[in-house]
Amino acid sequence: MYDYLVVGAGLYGAVFAHEAKSKGKSVLVVDKRSNIAGNVYTENIEGINVHVYGAHIFHTNNKKVWNYITQFAEFNRFTNSPVANYKGELYSMPFNMYTFNKIWGVETPEEAETKINEQRAEITGEPKNLEEQAISLVGRDIFEKLVKGYTEKQWGRDCKELPSFIIKRLPVRLTFDNNYFNALYQGIPMGGYTKMLENILDGIEVRLNTDYLENKAELDATAKKIVYTGPIDAYFNYSLGTLEYRSVRFETELLEKSNFQGNAAVNYTDRETPWTRIIEHKWFEFGKDEDGNDLPKTVISREYSSEWKPGDEPYYPVNDEKNGKLYEEYKKLADAEDKVIFGGRLGEYKYYDMDQVIDAALTCVKTYLAD
Ligand code: FAD
Repeated sequence: MYDYLVVGAGLYGAVFAHEAKSKGKSVLVVDKRSNIAGNVYTENIEGINVHVYGAHIFHTNNKKVWNYITQFAEFNRFTNSPVANYKGELYSMPFNMYTFNKIWGVETPEEAETKINEQRAEITGEPKNLEEQAISLVGRDIFEKLVKGYTEKQWGRDCKELPSFIIKRLPVRLTFDNNYFNALYQGIPMGGYTKMLENILDGIEVRLNTDYLENKAELDATAKKIVYTGPIDAYFNYSLGTLEYRSVRFETELLEKSNFQGNAAVNYTDRETPWTRIIEHKWFEFGKDEDGNDLPKTVISREYSSEWKPGDEPYYPVNDEKNGKLYEEYKKLADAEDKVIFGGRLGEYKYYDMDQVIDAALTCVKTYLAD
């Protein structure tokens, strides 16, 4: 009999399993997929670590988490600096002095601020919709070129028909700083996330292609306690209803050229281009293979916003009232399951960045695996 059965070989499950093992517990990890690493899974194609479930950039201000995760991988110095493409015009992101210089020709922070304030003044009353809210924050030019089309593609609706609360802030930098994340620590694990997860799970028994819910009775009998990181509603057989997600669709292509767009991420901010962005995976590791050689080919993924329906890959939890209430009902059922700990982005129906999910797993370890 195992001390712990961990359902899910993603970051949460792997960190919990590692810590349990290091405290002398016996652990079995199962995952229904044919690979470990959950949504941070990377697959090596022609020497390029492709982020199969969407681009993942590690960033954190949490020194404890950074010290923890760097035991399992060396991180490179990748800094996320996306580029926006609006009908062939290229702009720096997030909005900063390079962006303002390109849009208006302004040279100083003062000139940029004056221009933004002039344009923001267009909205006088309380913003009635997302369009008005965005203009009141950054002015019409930036809204039209860099916010409108992208947001409309993401939500599948006109900005005038979207509620203003969706955009609370649109950060504006009056500096020449293209670093998207304002994080103390940032980078990509060299050699890919899958390798990092292999290191976390080193020496732990992992059974892939094993759906816990389809083999529940049998698997439950093998362990004293269960850590479940799958969808909470699926655990309860959707008895109270289905929690909704926002989805993304990826179209990935191997190209017989060495450089497609010269940057890891390019956002397409016009409404007409059907994809929201293109990721060129090799630039997460500077276009080099493990030995530092330039890679001759490239892999790109076009990302499309898509409607989620039950059965699709769940990506982003929908943080609205309806889903929040339903989750709370499921949470009550979960709290009554003595033998099971629910964790991770699906088990807690919560958007977690990677550093947050590691932190949550470590907190769970502290609670349940006290020395
Ligand atoms: P998961 O990785 O989803 O792991 C859960 C595992 O459980 C999966 O492997 C699944 O197959 C398995 N499972 C589910 N049900 C069962 C079952 N019945 N039986 C067996 N196994 C089961 N974070 C960042 O910090 N930076 C980023 O740039 C970033 N980009 C992101 C981009 C996208 C598109 C998305 C959706 C998320 C992004 N994240 C990012 C967040 C990051 O993906 C999560 O923090 C992390 O993957 C959560 O880990 P987890 O273990 O909770 O869940």
